[in-house]
Parts: sequence; C-alpha cells; structure tokens
Amino acid sequence: MSKLQPARGTRDIYGNDARNMTAVVDTFRRVAGTYGFEELATPIFEFTEVYKRPLGEASDIVSKEMYTFEDRGGDELTLRPEFTAGVCRAFISNGMQQNLPCRLMSYGPAFRYERPQKGRYRQFHQVNAELLGQDSPEADIDMIAMAWRLLKELGLGDKVVLHLNTLGDKESRTAYREALVAYLSKFKDQLSEDSQRRLESNPLRILDSKNEGDKAIVADAPKLSDHLNEVSQTFFETVKKGLDVVGVPYIHDERLVRGMDYYCHTAFEFVTTELGAQGTVLGGGRYDGLIEQLGGPATSGVGWAGGIERLAMLSEAGEGPARPVVIMPMGEAATLKAFEVAETLRTEGFTVTADRSGNLKKRMNRADKASAAFAVIIGDNELERGVATLKRLENGEQSEIAFADIVSAINEK
Ligand code: ATP
Ligand code: MG
Repeated sequence: MSKLQPARGTRDIYGNDARNMTAVVDTFRRVAGTYGFEELATPIFEFTEVYKRPLGEASDIVSKEMYTFEDRGGDELTLRPEFTAGVCRAFISNGMQQNLPCRLMSYGPAFRYERPQKGRYRQFHQVNAELLGQDSPEADIDMIAMAWRLLKELGLGDKVVLHLNTLGDKESRTAYREALVAYLSKFKDQLSEDSQRRLESNPLRILDSKNEGDKAIVADAPKLSDHLNEVSQTFFETVKKGLDVVGVPYIHDERLVRGMDYYCHTAFEFVTTELGAQGTVLGGGRYDGLIEQLGGPATSGVGWAGGIERLAMLSEAGEGPARPVVIMPMGEAATLKAFEVAETLRTEGFTVTADRSGNLKKRMNRADKASAAFAVIIGDNELERGVATLKRLENGEQSEIAFADIVSAINEK
C-alpha cells in the first residue's frame, strides 16, 4: 500500500466541504423546527429485516446496494441505506402512535454500495423528515412546502425544479400495473436485461429506466394518470392546488416512480441540471402501508430525504472560517496571562487562538495567513504595566490597551 486511502466511495470531509454541509444541516434543523418537527436519531444499523421488507427485494437498494453483515453474535444487520424504514421502526418500538401526528426530523450518514462518482458515494449523508399519522393530502402539501423553504433558504430556488407525480392508491396501481405489463410484454425481447427482470418483480420501475431502448418503448406506454380512480385523482388535485397557493412551481412528471415499493399517491423529486447524472437533490412521497407492513398499527406517512453532499455542492451556503483574534505572548509570564485574556475574549464570543512560538514577524505572517482580524501582543514588560498591544491586521493600526479594556477596544473597531 503506497498511500493510505479511505475505502472506495468514502471520503474525509473538512474545510469548505465541511462548512457547506454543516450549513445544510443547520438550515434544515431551523426550517423543520418552524414546521414543528422534533429530532429523532435512530441507530446507524438495524436488523436487516427493517430495510428488506419495506423496500422490497426487487428494489435497487435491497438487491444490490445494502451493506449487510452478520455480527459476532450472529445477528443479521444492515448499515442504514435510507432513513424512512428505521424511523418507522422507531415509531413502533417507542409507541409513538399515542401522540399523533408525529413530526420527526433526522440527519446523518447513510450507506449504499454503488459505483462512486461526483455526488455519489458509498457513505453519504441525508437530512430526512417524516410526518406520520396524517392521511390527508394537506400533509403532502406541508411536506413539499417545507422542502421548498429549505431549498430556497439554501439559495437554490432558481436551481431546482420540482418533479411531481402520483402513484395513486393500491386499486389504481393494480389496474395500471396490469395495463403496463400487457403493453411491455409485447416488447419483452427488446427491453434491457434489467427491465426484463423488472417486468415481473417491479414493472413500474421500468418507467424510469435510463436505457435508451427502454425509453423509446416506454414513450408510448399507457399512462398511470389514465388509470387513477376518483379518490386518487381528487387527492392529486388537492396537492396541486395547495402547491399553487404556497407558490411551489412544479412539473407533472409521469415517469417519476421512485425506487421503493412502499410509495403511494404523491411522489416527488427536486432536480437540478447542475450536477450531471446526480441531479436529484431531494426526494420523497407518501407511504401509507409501510408502518403496518413493519408490524405496527396502520398509520399513514409522508416524508422526504435530501442528499447533504449534493445540496452542499450546489448551495455553498457555508460561511468562511471565523477570523480569529490571535494572542501572542512573548515571554513566560505573558504566556500564562494569555490564557486569562483568551478565556475572557471567548466568553464574549470571539474566536481566539494563541501563537506561542517564533519571533514576532513569523507570528504576524501566520496570523495574516489565518486571516486573523486582530493580534494581541503581550510582552513581559507590557505585562508589568498591565497593558497589551492590540493590532488590527487589516490596516496595521496598533495601540496599547489596558487588559481590562481589550474586549471593548475590539468591539469598537
Ligand atoms: P439517485 O437516483 O441519484 O440514485 P435515489 O433515488 O437513489 O437517488 P433517494 O433514495 O431518494 O435517492 O435518496 C434521497 C437523496 O439522497 C437523493 O436525492 C440524493 O440527493 C441523495 N443520495 C442518494 N444516494 C446517494 C449517494 N450514493 N451519494 C450521495 N447522495 C445520495
Ligand atoms: Mg440510487
């Protein structure tokens, strides 16, 4: 091994990347808070069944992307590939149905074994929100409005487009599935290998195949919108009206089906053209059967997840590093006094670092490189007189200040 590298598809996050990602999480927590969401942190691994059952064997995640392992005690475990199933498991485990609706926000790493590229990693991070226990379309409007507010506050209002679709209720989907399979079966030999397999297991997924041949066949396929029963149509109309009122622009995208088995009615994705093939920054939808399927009480749900890396790359919302006050003690006694001065300044909220080595010129050079705002120079003879030299690095202006006045002197400049 010539260089010690992180494992394929993982990376160390620091500097600008770290600041931009933190800004996404901070904005998410603040925005979701204004919608009444509370934090839920679930474990990073769960029993494999928690993901396997709701996502479906035929989904991309279960069939080829999960990090599954047996631990030393023989338990079958899986690293979190997405949040929704774990959040619903936690809802059941903790008896949260006593207090509906539940508004739950989470964030953190997720793991999928996929081909790494820009904006696609094996360990990535998501912000995630779930609203449990409201089966009306107004809940879907709330959730999309919240996503839109997050995106706008990240400065992405002009960079993303909402793709919106309905998958209808079970009855509508069953009717559509039949019509779709009847149509696609006529072209079975021309479909890609993946899609041939999906024809039996998960035919709706063929609608969003990236294969060019598949796309041509799909273009003339029957439309889900022609198979919606009245309940499903009304549901979708209500969602669209709400989005108009909130002011969220959208396009009705009939190809949008989402990868997981558990969705019904509303499905949506916010997409950008600025990240190449990794254009989906946030996606979600309604999943009314999921909690029951996991063994809990019948409870409806609607939620979404945003990819923190993709949101951070697009928005660059992080602020630069804080400009520190650098304390430069020039002798032994001054070094001790510097601790006291630094703590006083930190209590006032300043970022303070100490530079204790080398001559003054070297220290000033380092302070410039760190974009420091001020230097506080404490020499042993100044110490005796109870003063320090305060230098403003932007213009080189400097003056002697009594220790007691340093905070107010910096505040004034
Ligand atoms: P894609 O079509 O890009 O694979 P997806 O449909 O698998 O996305 P979701 O499961 O909906 O993605 O996850 C929600 C969000 O998480 C995505 O919109 C994306 O921003 C982000 N995301 C998903 N997979 C990855 C990954 N491997 N690396 C980085 N971000 C990801
Ligand atoms: Mg994917």
